[in-house]
Amino acid sequence: MDRETRIRELEKENKILKREYSRLQQDLSMLSNLNDYTSRLRKFNEERVVAANKAKSNFLANMSHEIRTPMNAIIGMDEMILREVKDRKIGKYALDIKSASKTLLSIINDILDLSKIESGKMEILPVEYECSSIFNDVANMTMKKAEEKGLSYELKVDSDIPSVLYGDEIRIRQIMLNIINNAIKYTKEGGVKILASYDHETEKLCIKVTDTGIGIRPEDMERLFESFRRLEETKNRNIEGTGLGLNITKQLVELMDGELGVQSEYGKGTTFTAEIVQKVIDATPMGDFSDSFLRSHEQLEEFKPKLVAPGIKVLVTDDNEMNLEVFTGLLSDTRMKITCASSGKETLECLKKDRYDVIFVDQMMPGMSGTETLQAIKDDHLADGIPIIALTADAIVGARDIYLKEGFTDYLSKPVMYEELEKILFKYIDPAMILSKEQIEREENANKSVVLVINDSSERLNEIRDMLGSRYKGVFVKDEAQAEKYLSKHDVRFVIRDGGVKV
Ligand code: ATP
Ligand code: MG
Repeated sequence: MDRETRIRELEKENKILKREYSRLQQDLSMLSNLNDYTSRLRKFNEERVVAANKAKSNFLANMSHEIRTPMNAIIGMDEMILREVKDRKIGKYALDIKSASKTLLSIINDILDLSKIESGKMEILPVEYECSSIFNDVANMTMKKAEEKGLSYELKVDSDIPSVLYGDEIRIRQIMLNIINNAIKYTKEGGVKILASYDHETEKLCIKVTDTGIGIRPEDMERLFESFRRLEETKNRNIEGTGLGLNITKQLVELMDGELGVQSEYGKGTTFTAEIVQKVIDATPMGDFSDSFLRSHEQLEEFKPKLVAPGIKVLVTDDNEMNLEVFTGLLSDTRMKITCASSGKETLECLKKDRYDVIFVDQMMPGMSGTETLQAIKDDHLADGIPIIALTADAIVGARDIYLKEGFTDYLSKPVMYEELEKILFKYIDPAMILSKEQIEREENANKSVVLVINDSSERLNEIRDMLGSRYKGVFVKDEAQAEKYLSKHDVRFVIRDGGVKV
């Protein structure tokens, strides 16, 4: 080939290469555009997921608030029926309402917890806590259920567990309750055994719960921790549950850098083990828990102090009239003087006129919110040194911390349970204002008319006792001779004998 031809060919090739090159460049720029587009799309999707999650969490938090408000009325009014009802059948209906309400509340709490975990908002709030109080509460809340089912219940707490640890005690309690309640629920015969120990080397608190229940099939193990998943649903349809407990438990344990293990033999029983790092605050060994638990338990059974304090004045603010009615009704037996206010403004007016021992303020109110009311009280020094307690239907993350930070003395969540309300009042009112057991009995007897009942059938006696209720004091004797002896020394309002009533 001559030189000229060679040059022409090379120029041709050069042209082709140039064209190729510019095509490649076009492709490359398209690719980079595409890349840019994909990353924008990804970002857009991520933002949408975050927004959707946020909307879901907000929706759940609002829904829980909306459900809790009417639940306050249902549980409160039901408590009043339970206190006053004489008819056993109606009493049973009221008890059923109480138990269903509690189940509904625990479902709402579980759904909220799950949504908090899924949206990454579940906070672990560590505090210093006494181990014995956790074991004590958990045992109090679970032991009775096992006994009612005829199951044995064994709680073995190693005596060398440090007495004070650092961690989120509320979540530890929740984890223990979930696995112990499952062990009791899914066991028909035999019993449950709870072992608590502390490994000083790894700083892990270990809770091991073993049952002799229905067990879990090996093929079901994987699905055990899925949310809303219940195993062998048809077989277990009579056992209450939503299938959220274990999912939440596992995620809580993992949030606390712990591990949840399970071993099971189908038809024989199951063991769940939770190991969670908890730092030591006070290494003094806890000592013999079972001993001290049983002792305090016996004392509790024997003497449960009653809250009667006629000299105490309570101010409660809530915009919902039914809630005020429930609050006053729940405290009617305490004989405290309850003043109700329906807004923040009214609260301030009451405080300008009178002095109260405890103040309860609802958080979510039209006009002034609970926090704004608190601020106004503080600014005007209307209740210096007086405990102000937030009432709230929110179950938002870290609610207790938020309210304490805002300046409230304490916080009580709705629906208000009498036991919780009583506990808070015991904590904040002057003990000298509470009547002793003897004072209460003396007063009660002095105010009651005595009814003398002559009868020797125990069945009829029970009927009459129900009939007398709390207004009359019944004195029961077997025959006329005993009756005469009593009448010679005491005044009575009525005498009831089989023949009829004599005034
Ligand atoms: P809840 O949300 O009220 O706790 P649940 O008890 O049905 O409802 P999980 O605690 O999540 O839900 O348990 C999921 C399933 O695992 C249960 O439905 C049950 O089938 C099985 N399971 C859990 N614990 C045990 C156990 N100790 N023995 C046998 N099966 C169990
Ligand atoms: Mg469960």
